[in-house]
Amino acid sequence: MPLRAKVASSVSRTAAALSRAAGRGDGSVIGGWIGLKIDPDLLAHLSSGRAIALVSGTNGKTTTTRLTTAAVGVLGRVATNSFGANMPTGHTSALAKAGSTPYAVLEVDEHYLAQVLEATEPHVVALLNLSRDQLDRAKEVAMMAQLWRAALVRHPDVRVVANADDPMVVWAASPPADPAHGHVPPHVTWFSAGQRWHDDSWVCPECGSTIERSGEQWWCTGCPLRRPEPQWTVEDDGVLDPTGAWHKVQLQLPGKVNLGNAATALAVAAEFGVRPVDAVSRLGAVSSVAGRYAQVDRDGRNIRLLLAKNPASWLEAFDMADEAPTLLSINARDPDGLDTSWLFDVDFSPLRGRQVLITGDRAYDLAVRLDVNAVPFQHMRSFDEAVRAVPPGRLEVIANYTAFQDIRAELDRVN
Ligand SMILES: [Zn+2]
Repeated sequence: MPLRAKVASSVSRTAAALSRAAGRGDGSVIGGWIGLKIDPDLLAHLSSGRAIALVSGTNGKTTTTRLTTAAVGVLGRVATNSFGANMPTGHTSALAKAGSTPYAVLEVDEHYLAQVLEATEPHVVALLNLSRDQLDRAKEVAMMAQLWRAALVRHPDVRVVANADDPMVVWAASPPADPAHGHVPPHVTWFSAGQRWHDDSWVCPECGSTIERSGEQWWCTGCPLRRPEPQWTVEDDGVLDPTGAWHKVQLQLPGKVNLGNAATALAVAAEFGVRPVDAVSRLGAVSSVAGRYAQVDRDGRNIRLLLAKNPASWLEAFDMADEAPTLLSINARDPDGLDTSWLFDVDFSPLRGRQVLITGDRAYDLAVRLDVNAVPFQHMRSFDEAVRAVPPGRLEVIANYTAFQDIRAELDRVN
């Protein structure tokens, strides 16, 4: 590395360590920010010489990054931004902290994918899904797909591992060849991880016609865009690889969603030459991801934490949760987005028949939504009160971002 980059990297590590010592979080944002101030090309310098995978999408990227890191670990040491700091400051900090590693797997906020592709020149990029996120801040889904597509056109050498079930992702990953400008379509490996949420992809991003669906197939009624044949699929409780071999996947993480994330991780790792048969047992060692899916025992209750940030991830959380008493907690602070009208895009009827408890700053918004959905509920003033209100056994907790952090902090205080 050039001298400036070495100095920047070392100062970045020190700043992050000081921030941690001062009890101000894991320090990865401030460390990266200072490093990039000293050397604006620091992320590029730190990336050079490493084989890198980027993982992006609206949902599942933290978990998929964690699983992919475990799978690529078959080959050697892997740097990763495991605490969800998924913008260039977080990437810079993670690589500076890891020192020299042959591999890196980085979770990337979908808005920053173009910039991070430019800086890191990855070997492979995984595109998971695109759906609406925070209504007052995020870009429209079709605009994100357009940004991804433009970024991939500028990087024809990067290999792409993409979700065949999401029309927006398929369109973004298949820019047309343009021989006049030397554009070749990217090399794409398709996986099928399912798409439970369809409400952001009824309109074709190419031609504006309606997208129709039947079973797992989807197609545009006005142009050739349709579901490509995936090479990696989920079958029963395992993953089918491109050779037709089936691998049983025993995860500690719940739900079909995470089996899809495991298929994605194996597909990305295969781009580095990792055989699924060697990686699959490592996936089973992942027990929680930045506190998500963590299980805590308290007063005879086994409490499991599920994070749900936007309509698509609420549907996934209902799928992951057991048929057990369920506490829902909603805040609308800055990191959550201030607009809670998305609650009306989620069908809460899968919760009927369970004991449902609600809490959080915006519990009353949730109350109105549940009432419209004819789901009975009890309002709890605190997490503690909720724990006491359910019988011994499993308590599922589904919360959005800051509500999740509040409950984690509450549990940490006691445990
Ligand atoms: Zn179309």
